[in-house]
Amino acid sequence: MADVVVLGAGLGGTIMAYELRDTLSRSDKVIVVNKGSTYSFVPSNPWVAVGWRDRESIEVDLAPACKKRDIDLYPQGAKRLHAAENRIELMDGTFLSYDYLVIATGPELAFDEIPGFGPAAHTHSVCHIDHALDAKAAFDALLAKPGPVVIGAVQGASCYGPAYEFAFILEKALRDAKLRDKVPMTFITAEPYIGHLGLDGVGDTKGLLESALRSKHIKWITNARIQRFEADKVVAEEINDDGSVKAVHEVASDYTMMLPAFRGVEAVRGIEGLTNPRGFILVDKHQQNKAFPNIFSIGVCVAIAPTGKTPVPVGVPKTGFMIESMVTATAKNIARLIRGDRPNAEGSWNAVCLADFGDGGIAFVAQPQIPPRNVNWSSQGKWVHAAKIGFEKYFLHKIRSGKAEPFYEKLALQVLGIDKLKAVTFDDG
Ligand SMILES: Cc1cc2nc3c(=O)[nH]c(=O)nc-3n(C[C@H](O)[C@H](O)[C@H](O)COP(=O)(O)OP(=O)(O)OC[C@H]3O[C@@H](n4cnc5c(N)ncnc54)[C@H](O)[C@@H]3O)c2cc1C
Repeated sequence: MADVVVLGAGLGGTIMAYELRDTLSRSDKVIVVNKGSTYSFVPSNPWVAVGWRDRESIEVDLAPACKKRDIDLYPQGAKRLHAAENRIELMDGTFLSYDYLVIATGPELAFDEIPGFGPAAHTHSVCHIDHALDAKAAFDALLAKPGPVVIGAVQGASCYGPAYEFAFILEKALRDAKLRDKVPMTFITAEPYIGHLGLDGVGDTKGLLESALRSKHIKWITNARIQRFEADKVVAEEINDDGSVKAVHEVASDYTMMLPAFRGVEAVRGIEGLTNPRGFILVDKHQQNKAFPNIFSIGVCVAIAPTGKTPVPVGVPKTGFMIESMVTATAKNIARLIRGDRPNAEGSWNAVCLADFGDGGIAFVAQPQIPPRNVNWSSQGKWVHAAKIGFEKYFLHKIRSGKAEPFYEKLALQVLGIDKLKAVTFDDG
């Protein structure tokens, strides 16, 4: 009998707990520690920020689903992980011991790294539902008094899809309000080229996204390093390949939303052998940490090296399907360890992504996520917007019902030839 704790109940952690419950025996305990007892579907935040969704439509109370699945839920949140002692200090001062731990704490948003950045200063955010609701109030103010807009992602960001999504969603919302002609829009990004996405592009994402920006009259600046944000402008340096400054742009902006760089959360940061210098969790191909072999990690908090050198730092995104592949591998590997076997399951880390533009969008499949790839496909069309809505409804149903992966999802993925797991391996490398 083992106590398995999942730290963090976001997109990865919630499914992790359900999949562990499906995989482990009844005598093993599955415990979830989260900040609060509510699940919030982060991919819908760009819709919240223009009023197409409200809080209620994208949140789920985890307590009933956990109770139904015999999963203990601790909503206090973790203050500090004491990895050498196999226990977690919770925010209320109590301690929780574990035999196995899965860290799924997502990102801490590093707004403090750029002057004037973040919802507490001069910019808006769609990374959290509370930020997105504040961004909606600012959007209403923009409708009342239209002015220039800047959207994008800053140096060190690893999440580019949502930046493009929000630029196109905002553009559509402005057109719906018949105010697009009064709002000059600029997309500013750390990427070396439009559509790089932290993945060195997928299929023709460069051509598709450049064409979409051009046809919607959104100007862009790439290789951008933000100097500072002010109330009425963004100051960005454009960087040459050799690292020198090509130009300094002062772009007027009454409404700015840029994705921040991420780092690991405070509760796990700075633990020797567990985290890298930015606080991301170090894992091997089995999602297992080498210094603490009873600790696994999944989701945005996992350390992944960039795809290659770029003039401005660009991180690799951790997308939903990739995270689910980490989840499946972790559940299998913990079950094996409990049985006395060695971990052998590897997540495929394939990226399957739908980027919504409000009335269309682009979809891409990168197998594996890091090039060179076996599948390198992207496409666009109105169907992507419909598919994204379908994905939202389906995922929220999955969370509410406590099911990790109904069989028809498995079937659909197999029909598409997209696997979550690589062939099992037995070496310790
Ligand atoms: C705006 C946005 C849109 C995105 N859209 C897409 C998309 O369309 N498709 C896609 O594939 N990917 C998308 N992503 C990327 C990714 O899928 C999401 O970021 C996803 O939510 C990451 O899941 P996660 O479980 O790693 O982290 P999260 O979902 O952020 O969950 C982390 C959880 O850990 C909890 N936590 C943090 N610290 C503690 C602590 N100390 N103690 C206890 N609990 C803690 C948090 O409260 C949270 O519940 C998007 C990302 C963003 C930011």
